[in-house]
Amino acid sequence: SPSQRWEMQIAPIGDGRRLVHLADRSGSHAAERMRVDFVANASHELRTPLASILGYVETLSDAAGEDPAIRARFLKIVFDEARRMQRLVDDLMSLSRIEAEKYRAPADTVDLGALVDETHAELAQAHDGRGRDIILEHDTGVIPVMGDRTQLSQLLHNLIGNAMKYGQPGTPVRVSIVREPDAVRLVVADQGEGIPPEHLPRLTERFYRVDPGRSRSVGGTGLGLAIVKHIVERHRGRLDIVSRVGEGTRVTVVLRPPTNAPPEPVS
Ligand code: ADP
Repeated sequence: SPSQRWEMQIAPIGDGRRLVHLADRSGSHAAERMRVDFVANASHELRTPLASILGYVETLSDAAGEDPAIRARFLKIVFDEARRMQRLVDDLMSLSRIEAEKYRAPADTVDLGALVDETHAELAQAHDGRGRDIILEHDTGVIPVMGDRTQLSQLLHNLIGNAMKYGQPGTPVRVSIVREPDAVRLVVADQGEGIPPEHLPRLTERFYRVDPGRSRSVGGTGLGLAIVKHIVERHRGRLDIVSRVGEGTRVTVVLRPPTNAPPEPVS
């Protein structure tokens, strides 16, 4: 296969005979290949809006820029493309920060219920009018998990954001938290277009998109689920995506409660 790579060493061992040693280097080759692809993809993703910005700015400085209507329209495009670059750079920086902290287990106690409520309020404000479609189902009271507050907030933004982006307008997005003896289960479910099964194994790859045009039109960077996967790994948790085309998608994240949690009050 093209990802196979063999290294051959030949040593003379006398009598005109030679010892041939074959070493399988496919593993490191694959990792190197992924790194090269990632840099190429990231550069391409940044270059497209950059080319567009340069083109429109050049036109704006010509006579065309004197027409107020054209000017307003082009400035809007320049602004949107610059925002797209900003989202991409923010996501790239998040990914590298999370990767750098990979081996340091998060040790804060975070109230997942409060974080979900907070994220809901932020997203409802950002997606004006769609906030009412989010249905929150979790216990009242503190739902403690072991975690990194900033990263868990980002995980929630990405998952609930996707459910809103790819969900059917007017249908609810359900966010539920279920407490189990040794785990806290977070579920984000939408009634959107769903994902064909052949794409499911690759969804958390950087820049992997089912429909690149649709992802871009809803402001996606293609990095959201890669970020979620890295955050879940750092939290030693589990990520599970189940989807049916035409019915919707359900993402489950299993986190751990703090090990030294105070005992539940007896009521
Ligand atoms: P993007 O920025 O493109 O949304 P993500 O990494 O968050 O990138 O998701 C990768 C791809 O997975 C998306 O482009 C989309 O095709 C698909 N996807 C993610 N979440 C959903 C969902 N809730 N419903 C349908 N498709 C989804």
